Amino acid sequence: MTNKPFIFDLSTIELEQTLAGWGQPTYRAKQVEAWLYQNYADNASVMTNLPKSLRQKLTKCYQFKVIDPYMVVDSTDGQTRKILFKLMDGREVEAVLMRYEKRQTLCISTQAGCAMGCPFCATGQMGFIRNLTAGEIVAQVLHYARQLNEEARHVTNVVFMGMGEPLANYTETWQAIRRLNASSGFNLGARHMTVSTVGLVPAIRRMSKEPEQIGLAVSLHAPTDALRDTLIPINKRYPIAMLMETLRDYITITNRRITFEYALMDNLNDSDEQADQLVTLVKDMLCHINLIPLNPTPDSSWSGSSDERVYRFRDRLQAAGVPTTVRLRRGIDIAAGCGQLYNHAK
Ligand code: SAH
Ligand code: SF4
Repeated sequence: MTNKPFIFDLSTIELEQTLAGWGQPTYRAKQVEAWLYQNYADNASVMTNLPKSLRQKLTKCYQFKVIDPYMVVDSTDGQTRKILFKLMDGREVEAVLMRYEKRQTLCISTQAGCAMGCPFCATGQMGFIRNLTAGEIVAQVLHYARQLNEEARHVTNVVFMGMGEPLANYTETWQAIRRLNASSGFNLGARHMTVSTVGLVPAIRRMSKEPEQIGLAVSLHAPTDALRDTLIPINKRYPIAMLMETLRDYITITNRRITFEYALMDNLNDSDEQADQLVTLVKDMLCHINLIPLNPTPDSSWSGSSDERVYRFRDRLQAAGVPTTVRLRRGIDIAAGCGQLYNHAK
């Protein structure tokens, strides 16, 4: 445990001010950022274009190791890797790499635990522990970037769909997004990042005014308040009508297509009638629906819909003109699927 501030928590401006305060020329901040975010440096001694005294000062004043990968699990098909990271205070989060033919998508965490308490989700079942800092969020990406770099691959997409509710940790999540997006930072296009939210209305409004063109995914999971209240407790505060109105405004302001996530639960939210109710909700919206058969979690008795019911539901939405896809199940054998991320040392 250390009390030094994390180097990855510094914004560009903070880094510039710190280095200027140390009497360094202005271009030094860019050099340091390039080392951290483009060369994935995890210590100052490799920063060979900096004077040795500056390297020593950075090492003395800042902590470079902010997360510790202490458990790595690969799926049997080798396409999915889950890493359990220990944070410096001993808390744990998970981040998952999914390899596709031409993409490497990372699913990263924004909180240890989650306060939203959705009963079907393993992270919800463990409760809220704490928010991650921007540096801890970015460090997950950099860790995988270092590994992929060894095979001449890159992180091509980042989804904020790991542990936690990103919009409940808005400031740090957004700082992380900026750092990942900045051309002086990790330089990942905003369109290659997606934030998934349970539907926090005020935060969605705030997000609609951000300059970055980040993708938005909303976890809907039920077409009526009666059912959504039981699956997503925060629905009582931000019910479906309010959420949909906010999302329609969001689309008008940003002109961007949104994604609805809908986890299909056997005989709970997967009937023909519910498909029709969903169609009515999203009619004429610039959106896309992603169906995810529910993944098993330790404390929930619900099970995922059968393939037959999944495809029936999809076909009904598609027939009504709603663009719909079924998300491929990934990493289920290593509990790295949606909603399965869990703090093991609870
Ligand atoms: N808190 C955010 C992002 C993290 S959860 C959110 O809820 O959107 C990422 C996605 O996994 C969400 O769509 C969530 O509803 C879904 N999910 C949670 N538990 C799941 C489970 N057991 N099976 C399938 N999807 C699940
Ligand atoms: Fe939190 Fe999302 Fe899980 Fe709900 S589904 S408990 S919001 S992580």
